[in-house]
Amino acid sequence: MTDRIKDFLRRFPSESPRLVLDLDIVEQNYHAFARALPDTRLYYAVKANPAPEILDLLARNGSSFDCASIGEIELVLATGAGAGRISFGNTIKKERDIGRAFDLGVRLFAVDCVEEVEKIARAAPGSNVFCRILCDGDGADWPLSRKFGCDAQMAVDVLQKAHQLGLVAHGLSFHVGSQQANINAWDQALKVSATVFDELSMRGIALSMVNLGGGFPAQYLKSVPGVPAYGDAIFRSLCRHFGNRLPQTIIEPGRGMVGNAGMIEAEVVLISKKSEQDSVRWVYLDIGKFGGLAETMDEAIRYPIKTDRDGDEKAPCVLAGPTCDSVDVLYEKTPYELPISLSIGDRVLIEACGAYTSTYASVSFNGFEPLQSHVI
Ligand SMILES: *Cc1c(COP(=O)(O)O)cnc(C)c1O
Repeated sequence: MTDRIKDFLRRFPSESPRLVLDLDIVEQNYHAFARALPDTRLYYAVKANPAPEILDLLARNGSSFDCASIGEIELVLATGAGAGRISFGNTIKKERDIGRAFDLGVRLFAVDCVEEVEKIARAAPGSNVFCRILCDGDGADWPLSRKFGCDAQMAVDVLQKAHQLGLVAHGLSFHVGSQQANINAWDQALKVSATVFDELSMRGIALSMVNLGGGFPAQYLKSVPGVPAYGDAIFRSLCRHFGNRLPQTIIEPGRGMVGNAGMIEAEVVLISKKSEQDSVRWVYLDIGKFGGLAETMDEAIRYPIKTDRDGDEKAPCVLAGPTCDSVDVLYEKTPYELPISLSIGDRVLIEACGAYTSTYASVSFNGFEPLQSHVI
């Protein structure tokens, strides 16, 4: 936790749960990415945390933006960053929304099938499109699975179709899976990308861009490599597969840009057991899956949790949220170690919560307010 966050919590006590996010960390992360991949354009994945203060800061620093909806596009335009800095990166778009984005000035669109290319040719004529290719997500704690992308052979046909319909076949994209711990995860996708470049070049279509997606991890309980290691590995793979004809590249970090910048202050509502013999306590917090910690689904993301009693002896417990829904359990298959002296009413600090929390919170499930967010 940063001194600025510590200071904020002390000076402005208020009801928990609340997310507090330090913009200085976001700015440091931005520059770390820019240094690690100096020839790569940065498109912040807005969905990770769309707080206007974050978008303003990144816009001021020169970032571009990966948007998934008209709502996100409008948030970015409100910063004053022009539409030229926006990629409409969702492969699943209503034709109406493509048309609205085009009217707002957006000229860069993701596709992963011919049907989507046809929509773009009608609603955003002449625009640049890039085709997303499938990636297995191995090594990622939050894989993005088969929902997005097509195989390499289909990508060739999709981009050829785009070219035939008067669009600019601009390049390829992939996402190696979010919270990707393997710095070499980009290699296979870049190898496949190079074959698609070659195949289209033989058909007279010159692609120019590879979108390397997100996947850069935040530091949760498990330790992960730093951004420079990712930058080096990606650059080596680019050279290996593209030789001295390197394409333009972009990255779309979401989690890696904001994950470690925020923490959630929460409170212990109840500590109990299911029977006198039960050795494992149940600890219920005032935040759970519906309050913003949705990424604990399948216990995928394990947040570091700090208490004021961390010097005391610890024991495993089941950790759960406050709602009356049985899925609202954070950690049970792998119980969480917390101090035995932890008591009802104690404050806990859940770290590295800057990404995928504030907008994952439900509107008012069970009458619990959406997660409050303070960007400082
Ligand atoms: C979610 C998303 C990202 C961000 O992924 P992270 O793993 O959070 O960095 C990037 N690009 C696209 C297309 C996405 O959908």
